[in-house]
Amino acid sequence: MIIDGKKAAAELRSELKKKVDELKSKYNAVPGLTVILVGEDAPSKIYVRNKEKSAVEVGLNSEVIKYPADLEEKVLLDKIRELNNNEKVSGILVQLPLPKHINKRKVIETIAHGKDVDGFHPMNVGNLSSGYDSSIPCTPFGCSLLLKQVEKNLSGKHAVVIGRSNLNGKPMTQLLLKENCTVTITHSRTKDLKTECLRADIIIAAVGIPKLVKGDWIKKGAIVIDVGINKTDSGLVGDVDFDEVSKVAKAVTPVPGGVGPMTIACLLNNTIECFQKAQSK
Ligand code: NAP
Repeated sequence: MIIDGKKAAAELRSELKKKVDELKSKYNAVPGLTVILVGEDAPSKIYVRNKEKSAVEVGLNSEVIKYPADLEEKVLLDKIRELNNNEKVSGILVQLPLPKHINKRKVIETIAHGKDVDGFHPMNVGNLSSGYDSSIPCTPFGCSLLLKQVEKNLSGKHAVVIGRSNLNGKPMTQLLLKENCTVTITHSRTKDLKTECLRADIIIAAVGIPKLVKGDWIKKGAIVIDVGINKTDSGLVGDVDFDEVSKVAKAVTPVPGGVGPMTIACLLNNTIECFQKAQSK
């Protein structure tokens, strides 16, 4: 089975559009997403354009604020504080990476945790790891929705997460634990990654190395989710050798067209949830 992330994301967006319409008639207001882009990083510009397009498509108020790369950190922090106090703004996303002179941690911690649609604020990270309600980082959130398309009940499955970043690996681990999986988290110092993978019912690859995960690393019938997006001479490829792995796995996500589209759909979902929580207060 090839897991169609494009289709799943389109279905989610269409559900979200209906939800936005309902919220509009209930509150006479719609959720608003503000994205801040600092500098000229080419992939970031594409991501921001796609986020804006999708937000508009589901009926959100979408705003993109662009700053030059030499922006003073204080100007950015002041803008975030202003957005925190603007009730028309439900969610704030500062596109990463930021220029080196800007302290990423300070930026993340300045965003009100109730508007942190990326789920990076320490309050949301802590809530997620404590099993409490929180904004969930969009890419792992998307991965978990795709996994659920293949198997509704993941309880007792052995999942191997490759990569331990705050963006992907760590929150993914928390989500899998919530589903009662047994989780092994691996990283660049893991001794024998192939052996770890061969034990897995589920593999989540979030590394950034083209085609790292090979067909002979996969237990027959495993589910493989490929988070990687790597630019190569032959185009975009994931962290998984798709041609090899798709012959052994029960289900695998392609790159492109797998996890990527779900990330944006989950961002829209998080924005709507932030709006609903703010309204219910
Ligand atoms: P990252 O912050 O660079 O983290 C990479 C992780 O992989 C680190 O934990 C690192 O271990 C581990 N690693 C490196 N080499 C390894 C090896 N040989 N064996 C096992 N683990 C190894 O990357 P990231 O931000 O999580 O992104 C990972 C990939 O996902 C990238 O290709 C990125 O472009 C892609 N991505 C996709 C989406 C999407 O929407 N689909 C979203 C975000 C990112 P250490 O901790 O020991 O260094």
